[in-house]
Amino acid sequence: MFDVIIIGAGIAGASFASKISKYAKTLLIEAQDYQKEIPIRTNIFPEHNRPFIQEEIGWDNKIIFPTTHTQSNYMSDEFNGVIDSNEFGIPLGNICYTENFIAERIKQLENQGGTFSSGERISKVTRHSDYLELMNNRGESYSTKLLTLATGSRGFELQRSLGFGIPDSYRGVYLHLFGEEDKINENLDYNYTFHINPKISQNGPFFFNKGIDRISAGYLGEKNQSKEDVISKLKRILNNYKPIQPILNGLSYNLATAVVGDISKHPIKNFSNDRVLVLGEAAGIVTAFFYEGLLPGVACADIATKTLKPLLENESNFSRSELHKYDQEVKRILFPYFKNGNALEYLIYNEGSHVKSLWRLYTKLLSEDRTCRKYIYDAYINHDLSKHNTSNDRYVGEKWFSKLPTLSKITLSPKFFKALLM
Ligand SMILES: Cc1cc2nc3c(=O)[nH]c(=O)nc-3n(C[C@H](O)[C@H](O)[C@H](O)COP(=O)(O)OP(=O)(O)OC[C@H]3O[C@@H](n4cnc5c(N)ncnc54)[C@H](O)[C@@H]3O)c2cc1C
Repeated sequence: MFDVIIIGAGIAGASFASKISKYAKTLLIEAQDYQKEIPIRTNIFPEHNRPFIQEEIGWDNKIIFPTTHTQSNYMSDEFNGVIDSNEFGIPLGNICYTENFIAERIKQLENQGGTFSSGERISKVTRHSDYLELMNNRGESYSTKLLTLATGSRGFELQRSLGFGIPDSYRGVYLHLFGEEDKINENLDYNYTFHINPKISQNGPFFFNKGIDRISAGYLGEKNQSKEDVISKLKRILNNYKPIQPILNGLSYNLATAVVGDISKHPIKNFSNDRVLVLGEAAGIVTAFFYEGLLPGVACADIATKTLKPLLENESNFSRSELHKYDQEVKRILFPYFKNGNALEYLIYNEGSHVKSLWRLYTKLLSEDRTCRKYIYDAYINHDLSKHNTSNDRYVGEKWFSKLPTLSKITLSPKFFKALLM
């Protein structure tokens, strides 16, 4: 009998496993074969993530964080809205080689006496009065006092079978481009490029995340598209889309390695139930506009550990009412910051003809207005997101609205008003 079993060794599950195994007999199970390889991912990892990992992961660990994140470019067809940390202070955060982050977390779990099993898919969970029984694809079973689902967008059937809701899912694709460090820096100034063009996607950005010797590129937010369609669109963009051609120049990539997957957002109602917790993207805890999923992964892991530690010490039966504190804490700590993404999603991710010009004005605003840049910078580096300053978001929204031509002001004022109330 395990105290805790975690299904899914992404950022959320692996982080939680390494934390909770200090206090509980822990098993972490992953469907992909990590013995062969943990799939590479190059992600941005803002300074506001740091409090949730700092006990176990050094911020200066260059295997995990090969470089700092100093510049973000919110890019339209005309303007670069650049947030440069050199203008204000410490870096915006780090660039994360996420496969190394996950590998380190699994090592920590094992060093603390926990067990990791990969290449194993859990297909069924049965509830008993005082434990849960898990069955894998080989017909083997495990028992646990507490189960954690950290299954991202790939375990919805299990989630449903345990009485949880399902978040909204969208399609995304990414591909790694490789080159010498100097060449990469010559081609691309910014660690993070976030570009909106509704012809690419009406529900998400085209992005570049720049590492040292590699760049991750892709787009997010497509609905109901097949893997083939998503990849062939990526191919057309890489071959023909003028604004990004200088970035690709001289770098190598292989479209056969493009990864298509779902990304989920819009949090479900409950993140806990009797003896079960749901962490990270599985619960739809991803910011709605920027699709930040690493923050919720590490935050949920930290909050779940803090909730469970006293319960483990008191040999609790992990009732729904005891676990509810986890839901409350996730909402208290993350949701003030999520409001900003909800408002931007409402204004930009829709089929309106105004989207392109609205995004253009947003990037123009950032290029011209230091206070707006400073407020965005402050959100990147804020170590207490429960105190995220929503009046700063409102200030940016009002400045943005003031840039609209008169006619657009009239047509878009109800939308802006609603966004301010989100
Ligand atoms: C293209 C792209 C770029 C992104 N860039 C960023 C970024 O730069 N910064 C950022 O903050 N966020 C980014 N995100 C979002 C972020 O990467 C994800 O939200 C986050 O990684 C989700 O972590 P997770 O641990 O919740 O889920 P996942 O990483 O999806 O992990 C879930 C794991 O569970 C396993 N699993 C599922 N079901 C089972 C089962 N039945 N049995 C066993 N194992 C199972 C899966 O194999 C998987 O490994 C990006 C997302 C995409 C798609």
